[in-house]
Amino acid sequence: MDSKTFQDLIEEVHEKGICQECGGCVSFCSSAEYDVIGLKDPYKPPEYINKDKCLECGICYYICPQTHVLDNELNQTYKFAGFSSTPIGYYENIYSCQATDKDFLDYGTDGGVVNSIINFLIEKRLIDGSIVSKTDAPFSREATFADSKYDLIKASGAKLDISPQLDEIQKFCTYTHSIPKLNHYKFKKLAVVGTPCQLYTIRCMQDLGVTPSENIEICLGLFCYENFFFEKFQIEKFEKDFNIKFRDLEKINIKEDVIFKLKDMGTGEKIIHIPFNHLKDYMRPACNACSDFTNIYADISFGGLGSQDKYTTVIPRTKKGIDVLKKALDAGVIRAVDLDEVQKDKMIKLITQYSESKVKRREEFMKNIL
Ligand SMILES: Cc1cc2nc3c(=O)[nH]c(=O)nc-3n(C[C@H](O)[C@H](O)[C@H](O)COP(=O)(O)OP(=O)(O)OC[C@H]3O[C@@H](n4cnc5c(N)ncnc54)[C@H](O)[C@@H]3O)c2cc1C
Ligand code: SF4
Ligand code: SF4
Ligand code: SF4
Repeated sequence: MDSKTFQDLIEEVHEKGICQECGGCVSFCSSAEYDVIGLKDPYKPPEYINKDKCLECGICYYICPQTHVLDNELNQTYKFAGFSSTPIGYYENIYSCQATDKDFLDYGTDGGVVNSIINFLIEKRLIDGSIVSKTDAPFSREATFADSKYDLIKASGAKLDISPQLDEIQKFCTYTHSIPKLNHYKFKKLAVVGTPCQLYTIRCMQDLGVTPSENIEICLGLFCYENFFFEKFQIEKFEKDFNIKFRDLEKINIKEDVIFKLKDMGTGEKIIHIPFNHLKDYMRPACNACSDFTNIYADISFGGLGSQDKYTTVIPRTKKGIDVLKKALDAGVIRAVDLDEVQKDKMIKLITQYSESKVKRREEFMKNIL
């Protein structure tokens, strides 16, 4: 390895506006107790705190999802041939699943499958708990640790009660800064739920054998087309643009587009679909520089796309992922729809279409990044 440092990340990633704020660099550097860099503002790229203490080890550079240094190694480990052949990653089968537990289903984003699997792993003592994401208000999430069904349901935030928090929140973001949270639980066996950028940095840490990745038992990956960020003063514009009152929002789901469920005000349930391209003003800019939609390095990937309402599309990828999914199905904590080959093909085509669109978006965006 040549001696790249955080200074190179600043020049090659931050200054180009493509830092995804995954927090991987900070998580490694602070877990090693160097305390050289930190997230002074979670909605901005990390910064130097004690530059003179930097050991120039280069790890922050190698585990950054925007440097792509370890792509070849990861692609070999995860049997992925590269975005040009198929952008959806290695898979042997695809499923459409649903929680059998009513609470997980009711509170689930889609079919409540991710939480059901985490709960199953906790009950079987295969993990001590999971870093998950608590929803405080629409477009406002916070990383938290869950080690029981109660915690998982409490964090789900599917039924939003936003009134107490809304006035206090200044910045709104659908992205969760969960990776730095790993350091708080480094002596526990963890599941991690994350977006492709987050799991990429974890897989790089595991590839290099660096802390705090050693206790991560399983990586549960979410599909991710993009995330949203805006400041409080933009709420008014958002409400006008889409004729939605923030206080009326009950649930947000990201699937084939962004789906807003409004509270029932006595006139029945109202659901509004807004295409991604109408939400450009609210998108996190660095998401333009990201090409992975399906979370190709996860043990199992999950998304809403391709499945009917209240079902989750599930793609197991690694031996561990295939094994865990089989055990959860055998134990009856989730059930799978009986899909024929034509239905599976249709799902794969749709997911491939979104994946290709994301690859293309990145290519276009990167043309303007020197
Ligand atoms: C930011 C974001 C963008 C997404 N974009 C798409 C998309 O474009 N297309 C698509 O088809 N699907 C997308 N998904 C996935 C989809 O919304 C569902 O999360 C997925 O289908 C699983 O649903 P479920 O009901 O099985 O999960 P659930 O059983 O509801 O469990 C979800 C679990 O994940 C945790 N969690 C969520 N986000 C994080 C996070 N960042 N860090 C840690 N824990 C987290 C929750 O706390 C919960 O415990 C996105 C999800 C997120 C969070
Ligand atoms: S000590 Fe290593 S990981 Fe930390 S900032 Fe310096 S080069 Fe990066
Ligand atoms: S590792 Fe993540 S937070 Fe750090 S510079 Fe790279 S993208 Fe940004
Ligand atoms: S699109 Fe999703 S995976 Fe990519 S940088 Fe944005 S949040 Fe991360």
